[in-house]
Amino acid sequence: MRKIDYLVVHCSATVEGKHFTAEDIDRWHKQRGWSGIGYHYVILLDGTVQEGRPEAKIGAHVKGYNKNSIGVCYIGGLSKDKAPKDTRTPAQKAALEQLLIDLKDKYPNAEIRGHRDFSKDLNGNGVIEPFEFSKACPSYNAYQEYKDLCS
Ligand SMILES: [Zn+2]
Repeated sequence: MRKIDYLVVHCSATVEGKHFTAEDIDRWHKQRGWSGIGYHYVILLDGTVQEGRPEAKIGAHVKGYNKNSIGVCYIGGLSKDKAPKDTRTPAQKAALEQLLIDLKDKYPNAEIRGHRDFSKDLNGNGVIEPFEFSKACPSYNAYQEYKDLCS
């Protein structure tokens, strides 16, 4: 099994209230020339948790940390005028927290972070992730919100 040091929370950087699924993200990521969806889990507006890439496989969601992390993504993260916004529905909030609790059971040493908590250019190659608003993602302070899950 991979060593998992981080559970990384993302948003899909889509407008609030718009329904998308893991299949949509899979298509978008393939259009970018990737092998398919870069996240391991996707949380839909109604709280449904869909599986993306298998946990055993290295994801494509956080530059420099894909090898030792799992990526979870909720649908949303942008306001109607496309500014970063915490658009999580109550069902998404609950499902996301439960998913993180389950993953913490499985990977007790993993720390929970938001995408934005990682440096954009940690490996110093000058490349910033092209596929989303990494500076704002997931549009809320995941580190702060889940701190208690990690203690
Ligand atoms: Zn992200």
